[in-house]
Amino acid sequence: MSGPRRFFVPRAEEETLLEGEEFEHAKNVLRLCVGDEAVLLDNSGKEYSAVVSEVGKRSMKLHVLRVNEGDREAATEVALLFGYLKNADKNEFVVQKATELGVKKIAAFSSAYSSAYMNENKLERLNRVARESAKQCLRSVAPEVQYFPTLEGALRSAAECRNKLFACEFAERSEADLLSLSGSTAVAVGSEGGFSREEEALAKSLGYSSVTLGKRILRAETAAVALTSVVMFALGELGLDGGRAEAKEEKR
Ligand code: SAM
Repeated sequence: MSGPRRFFVPRAEEETLLEGEEFEHAKNVLRLCVGDEAVLLDNSGKEYSAVVSEVGKRSMKLHVLRVNEGDREAATEVALLFGYLKNADKNEFVVQKATELGVKKIAAFSSAYSSAYMNENKLERLNRVARESAKQCLRSVAPEVQYFPTLEGALRSAAECRNKLFACEFAERSEADLLSLSGSTAVAVGSEGGFSREEEALAKSLGYSSVTLGKRILRAETAAVALTSVVMFALGELGLDGGRAEAKEEKR
């Protein structure tokens, strides 16, 4: 990572204390000392350039010098809903890649053919992965990872999105034109067990369009990254201009 180290804090103020895990990392791993520069992030979209002014046993004090608006967030709201996977590494992979791609909301869900078990620690671990990934790719906001015990709950959580896509391994054609998308978009991808016909019908009743990712069956984590990438490209976030100039800005 280039530039000063980045840390998430609950709230950034002129004098901000770094505590807990972020403090341990700053002190024991990165060995930050008085006078070192850092950037504080409080998930508001702002970036606070700061300098370490005191190092204690349980916290570090930073003095904020400047505040800038972060400029790496996607212009359009994209939500990824994914079937929670049995393998923890694969869930972390999905969260990490979705964060890098600019997704703003991530929801893991249980469904008819998914038997993975979620608990608070696992959810906190996924949120930590999202924060680490956001820091690494220089985002100023880490997407929140939520868990829904039912597919219906997850699908409804993105009700306000203009486009709702349901990656369906048994769909013969796509009901949405992926390359002319604009506006907020929700993407739902199943777990290793896939979706049932009833779940596809439920998704349709909630306004989702089934989309195919071609004739090969992709692993769940591949499908999540592939469809999110296609959506981000269509929205102008992965363009050849670096996604900065002409991102189709249509927030809703
Ligand atoms: N168990 C399912 C089967 O045997 O057909 C495969 C499930 S697939 C590993 C996991 C998820 O990835 C699917 O539920 C779907 O959301 C997505 N997926 C994989 N390949 C796809 C394709 N060709 N088209 C659309 N979605 C796909």
